[in-house]
This record gives sequence, C-alpha cells and structure tokens, in this order.
Amino acid sequence: MNYKNFQYLLETEYSSLAEKLKNEMLINHLNNNADTIDNTDLNDLIVMAKSSFIPNLFDMAIRLEKVDAAVCSFKLGMYGLCADCEEEIEYSDLEQDPAQPRCRSCREHSRYHHD
Ligand SMILES: [Zn+2]
Repeated sequence: MNYKNFQYLLETEYSSLAEKLKNEMLINHLNNNADTIDNTDLNDLIVMAKSSFIPNLFDMAIRLEKVDAAVCSFKLGMYGLCADCEEEIEYSDLEQDPAQPRCRSCREHSRYHHD
C-alpha cells in the first residue's frame, strides 16, 4: 500500500484548516487579536472553537482534530490501521477520506451500538 499521497493531502488540509479556524475565530470575536491567536497552541484553539457552539467553528474544530490524528499516525507509523482493532482500513475508504480513523466493521459496530 502506498499512503504517501494521503500524507500530503492530510498535511495540506491540516494547514489550510488551521488557518481557516483562526480566521473564523477572529471573525466571530472569540479572539480579537491576531497576534495572540498565532501564539496560542492549536489544541487550545480547538477546545475554544468546540466550546463556542458556533456550528461552523465546531465542525471545523472536529475535522481539524480528526486530520491532526491522521497526520500524527503517519509519524507513529500507524497510518492506515484502525484505531479500535488495528486491522487495515479499507483503501477505498481512505481514498474517500484520508482522515478516516476506523475500519468499516468498527464503524458499523459503533453506529449500531452508540448512536
Ligand atoms: Zn477496526
């Protein structure tokens, strides 16, 4: 399996999403100072965005977390493995969403048992 393409896509999405999140936060006056926002840890910004209850910001923060986790899994050499059962995630699912953290059967499982 060649995941190189996905790594590039995820890293690109990560940086553009981080920029967008910062801009949205300024627009929504969660933080009025562009300098402060640049010096704030991105994880803290994600927490702020999630607790803002502004739907747009909330969705962005959730997506950013997901993309961040996938970027990290590359560094750990765990990319493409399911976060729950550690089986390989179906390649076609990764093509659809390179940030997909779970294999199909674990996703089905959690859909029936938790939602
Ligand atoms: Zn799984």
